[in-house]
Amino acid sequence: MGYKISPGMTSQLNPFGPDWSGPVKGTEATSVAEQVEDSLFGKKKPPLLDEDDFPDAAEVLAKLEKYRRKLVHMIGDPEDEYMLQLADGTIAMIDKNGMIMVGIRFLMKFKDNFPVLVGAIGHEIGHRPRRWAEYKKAKPLNMTELQKLCRYEETRADLFAGRALAELGMSCEPMIRFLKDMEEGPHPEYFPAKMRADVIRTGYKEQASKVKIRKNLWPELDKLAPKSHIGDF
Ligand SMILES: [Zn+2]
Repeated sequence: MGYKISPGMTSQLNPFGPDWSGPVKGTEATSVAEQVEDSLFGKKKPPLLDEDDFPDAAEVLAKLEKYRRKLVHMIGDPEDEYMLQLADGTIAMIDKNGMIMVGIRFLMKFKDNFPVLVGAIGHEIGHRPRRWAEYKKAKPLNMTELQKLCRYEETRADLFAGRALAELGMSCEPMIRFLKDMEEGPHPEYFPAKMRADVIRTGYKEQASKVKIRKNLWPELDKLAPKSHIGDF
């Protein structure tokens, strides 16, 4: 796609985005995998909250858990790899071990708009942090290369989110609306919402047409057959 993104651009306030605007700990990181992990997942963790103290949020999270299982199945990873954890001061983020932290304010704001919540955790699961080991053998990157790689990974995550929503029969438009609304805020420095919208819609359309074919040709098998591994390019 023909989008230009300046090298110094920050995604600090990018919804569901990692913070790779900060200094890369180049002296400590010894491999590309570690560099990328530091950049994508090395952000300071938000305060974690105990679900027992927030019964309303726990209820929404329990509903979201059903979708989480479906998403993990779709991407083809073990079911216990991506657990949901209530948190404060974030929208949604994943750490390098696959723990998905969901911000309580975001969760409650969209408790009646599940396509946004499912899209958000779909994006996080789409990062598949354990897959980052693939980069282990590559030589260390400079800042520009690293940022490019992180954007590539962001694109993969958005593509998966779009595909996953299509597979679940949910619209991707509420998630896109949310991304665009966030961009209208006072800090317009993050990844362009228009670009993310195009990627999400591409994933959505592609998967929606596959779902349609499957349901038309194999209506009786569609419910039974596993639908995994839709996360690959
Ligand atoms: Zn992300």
